Amino acid sequence: MVMLVMTSDVYAEVVAYCLERLPEEACGMLAGPAAEQGMAYYGNEVCAFYPARNAAGSARLYTVDPLDHLRADRDVEMRGLVILGVVHSHTHTEPYPSPVDIDQAPDPKWHYVIVGLGRPLPTMRAYSIHAGQVIEKELLIGGLRHEHAQLII
Ligand SMILES: [Zn+2]
Repeated sequence: MVMLVMTSDVYAEVVAYCLERLPEEACGMLAGPAAEQGMAYYGNEVCAFYPARNAAGSARLYTVDPLDHLRADRDVEMRGLVILGVVHSHTHTEPYPSPVDIDQAPDPKWHYVIVGLGRPLPTMRAYSIHAGQVIEKELLIGGLRHEHAQLII
């Protein structure tokens, strides 16, 4: 199983931003160091979060604002990082890709992270989406498996 590793700082930033953006779906880009060439993903250690406006302005859909995406691209380049994936929130539903999320997943090498806000505690999950197929990834936050991490952060 492919793993996604996230620092506890980024985890806290992402969850805080998702809560802040309610009632809309929140979105943003995730970045980190590049993996070796030829890997099935661009890298799997997230160390930076770039919050973005949801250009769809919706509680059910998200579109990363193109200007915010561009700003993230420029910043990661300056820092010697790469965009590893995208994160968005589900305000009422489970953190599993919707049919639209699956249809519109632009890059099979990205990590697709979803924060579910439908339960008392935010729940984060990570997936790869390739040709309509969704595969969940193990998510480690600050070295802890996510189920343990959410209890202490
Ligand atoms: Zn979604």
